[in-house]
Amino acid sequence: MNAALEIQSLNVAIDRIPILRDVCLEVPAGKMVGLIGRNGAGKTTLMRAIMGLMPVKAERLMSAGMDLQQLKPFQLARRGISYMPEDRRLIPSLTVEENILLPAWANSIREAKERLEWIYGLMPEVADFRDRRALQLSGGQQKLVALARALMPGHNLLLLDEPFEGVAPVLSQRLTEVIANLRKDGLSVILSESDDVHSAKLVDLVYRIERGVVTAR
Ligand code: ATP
Repeated sequence: MNAALEIQSLNVAIDRIPILRDVCLEVPAGKMVGLIGRNGAGKTTLMRAIMGLMPVKAERLMSAGMDLQQLKPFQLARRGISYMPEDRRLIPSLTVEENILLPAWANSIREAKERLEWIYGLMPEVADFRDRRALQLSGGQQKLVALARALMPGHNLLLLDEPFEGVAPVLSQRLTEVIANLRKDGLSVILSESDDVHSAKLVDLVYRIERGVVTAR
């Protein structure tokens, strides 16, 4: 089976300064992979590069046999590839449900209703506050909504950028459960964290990133 993500010799430079250097990484289908590195190591840059949100040079950047370098961000969304940014970026004046549906509207995803039901099944607490405006939620609740929104398109490959960052202990336990359940549903996931406090329990394999260089561990 094709890997959910296969990266060979990926390089990113910003203002000619190399930020990611010769990154090689693989996410086998249905597996959860940890990407561990300190602040500034390059985790966010790598996720944005995979999503085509910044210029990248790679020998190979493939997902399930597709060349991601040939696809536009909306085409990635339609193929079930999605990214949850570290800063939640919800639209405060929209309701929770509207925030979750945004990527479906933006990318013309037809099965939005079914996906919404699946998401509410995974996180019934989000269904409970679906009509509240995002600005009325606590930081932790917003994190769940950001995950819900990423799951709207993201049914194949999901990139979670530091999902546990700034989340209170009770909620991070809940978040761990929800993320563990994603694997049962066959998603392939990259999960970044500055250390492996939360991800250790979740991931099948770990890559470490330091100053833009990735090593398998
Ligand atoms: P953090 O958790 O702090 O976001 P990170 O591992 O996600 O850490 P990145 O945000 O990917 O790290 O940053 C990697 C490096 O690239 C850092 O040294 C950062 O200063 C640099 N960098 C990122 N974006 C830019 C930019 N737009 N201009 C200049 N340098 C940048």
